[in-house]
Amino acid sequence: MYYLLIFVCFVSTLLDSTNTHALNESLMICSESHEDRRLFMQDKPRSAYAQLPVIYFVTPTYPRREQIPELTRLAHTLLHVPRLHWLVANDRDRCDKFLDNMLNKFGIPFTYLASPMPSKFRNTKPAPRGVANRRAALQWLHQRNLTAGVLYFGDDDNTYDLRLFSEIRQTQRVSMFPVGLIAEYAVSGPVVRNGKVVAFLDSWVAGRRWPVDMAGFAVNLAYMSQYPNVNMPFKPGYEEDLFLRSIGLRIDQIEPKGNNCTEILVWHTQTKNKKSPTVRIDSALLNDRFNLGALFHSLKVMGVASASDTEGPRAVISKNGKGKPLSYFLS
Ligand code: UDP
Ligand code: MN
Repeated sequence: MYYLLIFVCFVSTLLDSTNTHALNESLMICSESHEDRRLFMQDKPRSAYAQLPVIYFVTPTYPRREQIPELTRLAHTLLHVPRLHWLVANDRDRCDKFLDNMLNKFGIPFTYLASPMPSKFRNTKPAPRGVANRRAALQWLHQRNLTAGVLYFGDDDNTYDLRLFSEIRQTQRVSMFPVGLIAEYAVSGPVVRNGKVVAFLDSWVAGRRWPVDMAGFAVNLAYMSQYPNVNMPFKPGYEEDLFLRSIGLRIDQIEPKGNNCTEILVWHTQTKNKKSPTVRIDSALLNDRFNLGALFHSLKVMGVASASDTEGPRAVISKNGKGKPLSYFLS
């Protein structure tokens, strides 16, 4: 009896300490819908959208371990959007097969450019991030004499509301709208009175006539084509301002979007950047008897991590909660 009691106590503390209670939660269902009312499902044939102006969505991107997940997430947003051409401009001196393949598979019309930041800027602080590649995209548009459609600069790490695309598609000259999570006020965008943009709210003015974020405006290509000197200089912090100055924008021409700039249709989310690790794994585990060789090969191709026989923290490989020596797997 005594032993049984000890045993019961032991088992119950074990259950407690691992938080394994039977389900018995206090919960409120706040709302629920069993009706499918999704607006953006692609249940129409492509031809139903044929009359819409094309959105040229320019994404500067650069090799780092977060690049592939960022582009995957962004692609999954863009997959919902009809009549869109995705200009993916990589900050690298060459094309790579992996990105090429990946972009092809999404099925979104796209152009994949490679245009590296000039080396003289690489070590400047702050560096002109994403400028060389956005400039390359501008050049691509210019070379094709594209004078219909709408240009939008969409970084690879932002979060886009699908309503953004319906809004900017109607841009006649330049449209603007607030961007969430920018700088000190967690927002940047136009001040609107009686349907007109009259000023700007942004915590970093710094003499900028157009103190807006890159994701906070869209430009009609017919309008832009009237300004052959369109440019985006390598001037960190002033890219938006100088770009908008180069297309002769006047404040009374700006079209406020997002219900007169009362809604957030795009968020300046940022992903934590970390160095891609080297993981020490015995080469005996990296041959084709195990998955690990192929797994680390693909992580390497994506710039996420690499495996080494001699460098980096040793990888723990466990079973039943315990690290196992190499010999265990080779026997
Ligand atoms: N970017 C780039 N090269 C770089 C750094 C950034 O092409 O060396 C791209 C990046 O992928 C993003 C945009 O430029 O689409 C803005 O960079 P980031 O998001 O790091 O800057 P943020 O505006 O969030 O501070
Ligand atoms: Mn960003």
